[in-house]
Amino acid sequence: MVFIPEELLRIARICYQCGECTGSCPLRRVSKFNPRDILYELATRGIDDDIMRWRWQCLICENCYNVCPQGVDFPSLIMELRSNEHEPVSEDLVAHRVLSQIAYFMTRFDKGVPVDFKGETDDNSEYGYFPGCLDYLDLFMDVGVNFHEIGDYALMLLNRIGIKPKLLDLKCCGHDVLFQGNLKVFQQLVSYNERKIKELGIKKLIVSCAEGYLMFRRYYKLEGVEVIHIAELLSERLHFPDAERVHNHAIKVAYHDPCALKRYKLYEEPRKAIKNSGAKLVELAHTRDSALCCGVSGMMNCNDTAKALRVLRLAEAEAKDVDILITTCPKCLSHFNCLKHEHEQGSESNYKFEIMDLVVFLGRLARQELTEADKNRR
Ligand code: SF4
Ligand code: SF4
Ligand code: SF4
Repeated sequence: MVFIPEELLRIARICYQCGECTGSCPLRRVSKFNPRDILYELATRGIDDDIMRWRWQCLICENCYNVCPQGVDFPSLIMELRSNEHEPVSEDLVAHRVLSQIAYFMTRFDKGVPVDFKGETDDNSEYGYFPGCLDYLDLFMDVGVNFHEIGDYALMLLNRIGIKPKLLDLKCCGHDVLFQGNLKVFQQLVSYNERKIKELGIKKLIVSCAEGYLMFRRYYKLEGVEVIHIAELLSERLHFPDAERVHNHAIKVAYHDPCALKRYKLYEEPRKAIKNSGAKLVELAHTRDSALCCGVSGMMNCNDTAKALRVLRLAEAEAKDVDILITTCPKCLSHFNCLKHEHEQGSESNYKFEIMDLVVFLGRLARQELTEADKNRR
């Protein structure tokens, strides 16, 4: 039996076993994973081998927390169970292990990772833009996505709304190593990044990545620094001329809410930014608090269950006959496009729509690149 902290027991004991969490759980749709049973077991028997195994399966998607009438924060409980007081995830469960190895490697040097994106920057700006792991995804993910262009378009759009940020050459934000239970590496990354952001005098930290947003807002101590997702700025300041809005209305899009934006309920800003462009936005069957996950969380458990979840989610986009599925998370982008790419390499693709990051979508519209490409495709 493993020692169970009092706080975890308290969380488990306020659960009155109504089952709402299990009903809302994306994993439950494709497996026997059952948060209600896990809580019952925790409260009555403590931490056993089953719980130690299940803690790596939860997607930390927040759906259960969003519906629980008792406010049971199951995702936080799972994160606690993953902490180093127990043990990090077994390497067998981690996909693209090289990405976590790179994060570890970064802790060996007192230096951030150089960044180079097209656009105007200002080293004296109070705005800092952190592009995240885009270039590493390009190196190690062969899923038909150009990740680097997310940073190029983000910078181009920031310039359009009058912001010339400082480009931040930080280390990895630490999302995946934290989710994988490697607290020691995570804390080393955090302490370098916190120090660097302070030294550079950044007051407004802009990210275009959902996971980076979650990390900086929830897990970093950045006193006096406002963490901003780029969708928040674009929804307020990026406007399209009426003629372009009319033209753009021919494009039908849906928005996939990444799990990492659910804790702070950043739901309306990306939608507003899309609507401002004139594009026709339709909603998937599950959205916002109850959106389905892309299936792979923290680069763990890329298996048949995860694939089944991706199939479910892309079927929701297919059912709406969209031209483009938009998201704000490079990881969702990679996992969804991985499935699409796999189909395209077979005889015929089921998925006729594109899957694109929000800033790439808006950037292409702003440059009037997308409508032509889209016309050609249809
Ligand atoms: S929804 Fe909340 S109270 Fe109901 S079973 Fe789940 S954790 Fe317990
Ligand atoms: S966080 Fe998501 S995957 Fe984990 S138990 Fe809750 S609903 Fe299920
Ligand atoms: S779904 Fe594809 S991109 Fe995502 S972890 Fe699995 S293999 Fe990698």
